[in-house]
Amino acid sequence: MNWDALKQSDLDGDDIYGMRDFENEMLAALINREKGREYSSNNREKMNAYSRKWQREHPEYGREKARQRYARNPEYSREKARQWYRAHPEVSRMREKTRRAREFNAAGADYLTQEKLDARWDYYGRKCYLCGADATATDHVKPLARGGAQWPCNLRPICKRCNSIKHATWPYDFEKHRELVKQEGKRCAKRSELCVK
Ligand SMILES: [Zn+2]
Repeated sequence: MNWDALKQSDLDGDDIYGMRDFENEMLAALINREKGREYSSNNREKMNAYSRKWQREHPEYGREKARQRYARNPEYSREKARQWYRAHPEVSRMREKTRRAREFNAAGADYLTQEKLDARWDYYGRKCYLCGADATATDHVKPLARGGAQWPCNLRPICKRCNSIKHATWPYDFEKHRELVKQEGKRCAKRSELCVK
């Protein structure tokens, strides 16, 4: 919580956070240390929400704090970052996707978000669009390497096996692929067989 800015905003008389009444109430209580402590513990949730809202609207403040924290103890900050990325693997995956799409100069590279990708997966019931098995990856129907786009319409969930068969083959014989994966003996269909001549 940036109390200095908060007090300043009150002095200036601007309702910059759109929460004037709550700010005044908080300030009045926090002027007295004892009272302030009691007020804080009784209004924890409301104050946290206020704090989050404030920080969202002032990202430069959070960045500055993070810079200071990092300067004080870089190893601690790095470890915290590692923990955060471990707990949010989808963020790393999305960054990797965007990085790769940019590398290929794909249209829509910066348009894709986790929500939009999730919507594509949900549309296909989170199953491989070629064989119906549980999906493990996202396929670029027209491969990035062949000039395919990163628009959601070019993205579908795919299973490991179908992905390794299809890979970056283009143009692709989807019908033949579906037939081949149905026949157990043809598990490792050659990619060249599936390219439409
Ligand atoms: Zn499949």
